[in-house]
This record gives sequence, C-alpha cells and structure tokens, in this order.
Amino acid sequence: MKQKGNFLLMKPSEFRGWLSKQKVIRNISRLQVHHTASPNYSTRGIREGAARQDYFVCLEGMRNYHIQTQGWSATGQNITTFEDGTIAISLDRDLNHTPAGIKGANTGAICIENIGSFDRGGDLITEEQRKSILHLYACLAEKFNIPVDTDHIVYHAWYTRSGERMADYTPGRSSKTCPGTNFWGDGNTVLAANRNFIPQIAAELARLKNKKPTPDQISNINDNSINKEDEPMTPTEKKMMDELKAQVNGLLKAQSMDVPSYAKPAIDKLTQMKDRNGHPIIDTPDGRSADFYALATVLDRLGMLDR
Ligand SMILES: [Zn+2]
Repeated sequence: MKQKGNFLLMKPSEFRGWLSKQKVIRNISRLQVHHTASPNYSTRGIREGAARQDYFVCLEGMRNYHIQTQGWSATGQNITTFEDGTIAISLDRDLNHTPAGIKGANTGAICIENIGSFDRGGDLITEEQRKSILHLYACLAEKFNIPVDTDHIVYHAWYTRSGERMADYTPGRSSKTCPGTNFWGDGNTVLAANRNFIPQIAAELARLKNKKPTPDQISNINDNSINKEDEPMTPTEKKMMDELKAQVNGLLKAQSMDVPSYAKPAIDKLTQMKDRNGHPIIDTPDGRSADFYALATVLDRLGMLDR
C-alpha cells in the first residue's frame, strides 16, 4: 500500500483485508459501475508503449477536474481501478461519504470508476483489471451484504440525466453510455450484465466464501453458501457411487453369455472354419450376445455352415 496526497493505492490482494478493517457508518446498499472514458488506456501510456503515467498524477488530475470544473467538493468516486488491477481509495471521498456518481442513485451507494474507455472501438479491458474489478465488487458485496444483481450493482447508463432509473440502457434517454457500450466485451445493457458481469461477481464471491475465513468472518458464513464442489466424496456419496458402478457392470455382463446349448452345433462348426488366409473365423465363442448365437444357429439350420 502507498499513500500520497488524496489517495491510497493498493494491490487487489490487499483490498479484502483493508476493507474488513473499515468502519462504515452509513448504510450501503448499492454499487455503481462506471468507466472514466478519460483518462483511458491511451492517456495512461499503454498504447504508445511509452512510460506509464504515475498513478497519483492520474488520480489528482481527475480530482482537480471534479473540483474545479464540475464544482464538486472532492473526488467524485470512492474507489478507482487501474489497467494493471491496482485499486485506489479516494481519501477525500472515503466510504463514509456519499459519492457524486449517478444523479438519483448516490445515497447508500459506493461509486467505483474503472479507468478506461470501454465504448465500442475503445479500450479492450486487460485481464488484470478484469480480475481486480470482479474481486473488488465481490469483496464489497460480502462486506455490506449486498445482493449480486442488477438492482444493487448498477450501470450509470441505466439512469436518465434527471436521475430516473430505467429498465435498461436507452440511447437518447440514458445520461451516458457509461461504463461503455462494449463494457466487459459484452455491452452496457441489463441483459449483458446478467449474462457475464453479474454471474462472474457471484462466482468470485462464492470463491471468497469458500476460502478459509478469518475468525471475525466465521459468524457471517452460512453453510449453504459454501461451494462444496471441490471437496472429496462423503462416505454416503462414495457408497452410492460404488452401488452405481456395480449396477452398470451387471448390465454390461448381462448382455454377454456363454454358448447356449441350442447353439453348440453351430458354434462348433464356426470355430473350426477358417477364412481364406487360414485364420479362424471366430476365436472367442463364449461371451457373445444372444442375438449372435441365434443367428449362427439359423445359418447352420440353413446348411450354410456345412462347407
Ligand atoms: Zn459514469
């Protein structure tokens, strides 16, 4: 972690521990999703292969814009994610302060700005930022007990300029395209969110809950929410699996049989017959199906095996 000016920087792996120590007295029930549009991957110095812009220069630049141009009292967002996954906390807009993110949806919300321009034709999100964002939302959902759905994790684009929540992103009515028409490589609609972003946060949250919890988290963990897929079989499950295997083996065996007495004359003839290369026509008379023995008997009775 590194603190400078109005921001605290940390790695994604440090976020959950940091968050667990935060005392938040306002009621949090909503997580906003934004992209910054500018700054973006170009201004960060990714595309040119140039030296990467300093994190704090980027953050203070946003803060200056918010205060001087927008006239806000502080940085608009509570949290920022970077292209390499780095997470920044706004110290002038800490978690106890209502953000300036979405008109009509700031009360009880945490505003997260993801650096990048994720409209179609813009930046393609990096794997590091993608993972960091999923982890961040999962940690926040865990800490504040927020349902992982599109009523509680909201895109800026689902609101009008006057702050009304719409059913979906509506070009012409939405205040912005934010977090981008190609956000998550999928778009900024409710349908797109439900297809990829929301279930991936839910999966990350399940993964977090499956991890060995710290003592103060134990009381929060409900057994039913733990993902047990990776655990070995219980004795009951193993017994059921063994019974199933025995049944399958029995079925396979029932299909094969020893030579029945009615087929013996036909099979005796067949085992002595050779093909044109002098090889036996059949070398394993036993263990074949009832249909095989019946057919051999029919051929014999037609006189076709008396050659
Ligand atoms: Zn936005």
